[in-house]
Amino acid sequence: MSVLVVGSVALDSVRTQSEAHDNLLGGSASYASVAASFFGPVRMVGIVGEDFPAAYTDLFASRGIDTAGLQRVRGRTFAWSGEYEANMNNRRTLSVALNVFETFRPDLPESWRDTEFVLLANIAPALQHHVLDQMRRPKFVVADTMDLWIDTTRDDLLRLLGRVDMLILNDGEARQLTGIDSLPRAATALRALGPKWLAIKKGEHGCLLFGDGEFFTAGAYPLEEVKDPTGCGDCFAGGLVGHLAATGNTDASALRQAVVYGSVIASFNAESFSLRRLEALAKSHVDGRFAAFQEFSRF
Ligand code: AMP
Repeated sequence: MSVLVVGSVALDSVRTQSEAHDNLLGGSASYASVAASFFGPVRMVGIVGEDFPAAYTDLFASRGIDTAGLQRVRGRTFAWSGEYEANMNNRRTLSVALNVFETFRPDLPESWRDTEFVLLANIAPALQHHVLDQMRRPKFVVADTMDLWIDTTRDDLLRLLGRVDMLILNDGEARQLTGIDSLPRAATALRALGPKWLAIKKGEHGCLLFGDGEFFTAGAYPLEEVKDPTGCGDCFAGGLVGHLAATGNTDASALRQAVVYGSVIASFNAESFSLRRLEALAKSHVDGRFAAFQEFSRF
């Protein structure tokens, strides 16, 4: 089954302590779509400007991603730049230029409105609502978000929670959105607002999954070197939804596996800048690391 992904498509400039790269392929929809493409067909909804390199569109095509929902308009592509501290966990946003995003309306091709698995990747909650307004009866909707939307469009975001099956955020965002320090208590409060499932990411410390009478914890893959963690959250979400769509199953055991597949793709993504590591990755590598995760948590 297909996954519909809506989110940002960006030109990123990323600085670490040892390297700096400009005009990289980035954006939540780019990372999430490529991550989901390891599991099955992906339909991508987003917007780019005239400066978007053909090589990046070719990359989507090489992964079999359907870009019929990727609008190309006059103007410049959304651009983001960020800088990592030496520990590679703390990131500072240096600049954001909305550009073509300012007038973006994510209108879906008619034949995509029946897609059963939907990932509302990180983008303004109003746009996530606009996509859901067009969907007929999706089987499973996952939403991702970020601190910016909790700060600036909180009401839209809270209203969205009543319309999704699963919310993904990181530990800081869960505390920010609820005002609750305890993550299990914050999870209960967030699930009371709508989503049946909640995933709380904890960066290099893995991820927690909360459901009705369900709790699962996945570690993070022990990477010796993190080159660029940009997009790991988007890859987690894309891999997770991709696996659910591939099996068509959304029960607790499928969700547990999906969390691990999401963690696997995210771990590969951190090994190189932009989507370079995922470009060179085979599904057999993904399955190999999935087996390693199983081994790490068996006792
Ligand atoms: P992550 O590292 O998972 O937080 O995702 C980083 C990606 O998010 C980068 O490729 C950025 O282009 C993209 N991004 C940054 N700010 C925004 C924003 N306000 N809306 C949508 N995407 C964004």
